[in-house]
Amino acid sequence: MPSDSALRIVWIYPDLLSTYGDQGNVLVLEHRAQRRGIETETIHVRSADPVPESGDIYLIGGGEDRPQILAAERLRRDGGLHRAIAHGAAMLAVCAGYQIMGSTFGGEEGQPVDGIGLLDIASTRGPARAVGELVAEVDANLGLPTLTGFENHMGVTSLGPGVKPLSQTIKGVGNGDGFEGCYAGHVVGTYLHGPALARNPALADLLLTWRAGELAPLDDTRYEQLRQERLDTVLAQ
Ligand code: GLN
Repeated sequence: MPSDSALRIVWIYPDLLSTYGDQGNVLVLEHRAQRRGIETETIHVRSADPVPESGDIYLIGGGEDRPQILAAERLRRDGGLHRAIAHGAAMLAVCAGYQIMGSTFGGEEGQPVDGIGLLDIASTRGPARAVGELVAEVDANLGLPTLTGFENHMGVTSLGPGVKPLSQTIKGVGNGDGFEGCYAGHVVGTYLHGPALARNPALADLLLTWRAGELAPLDDTRYEQLRQERLDTVLAQ
């Protein structure tokens, strides 16, 4: 039985948005918290179920156009995620999940579909599917090393004044305008798969810090070597 003080991780709609391995983000958060002695409790919320409001970190992943539309409708109707974020919860939203957070996104035929309005962004269909490696330099205010991951999306995303770009794209398409992802408060949106938190453990720690406070350092030497090898390979292409 997890204690009341356990860090609550909420994985939203695995039955709709779990196509690109983004559930790995849940595993990385659990692992990095537990290695520091932080107890975790993970709640998998299927789309027929209400989104609990008492979570600490909410995660939502990528998926295909139809399930993305269903997920947006259900999240809007449910309202639990809005209330959780209003209470200060953190969130990482990836690709389809990222687009859903905005005011609108492109459906199967490119038709505008309503998002849930948690982030000041709007997405439409881009000129071509963006598929491949993504490398981006993070906003200096966040103090994170270079982001790496892969992308696979048709949508492009423009940012309004209510959000800041998460990073500047060095390789790949990202939002489609030279930036990749965005953040506002403790909500981060990104096109990065990989899973994003496996490829970028510092981003996992940022989310953990927002809810669990200062974290003990971990020995990440092995991960750093892998990250560097991948970055060197991708940037040499
Ligand atoms: N269906 C969306 C798009 O193509 C999201 C894809 C994804 O989540 N990888 O833009």
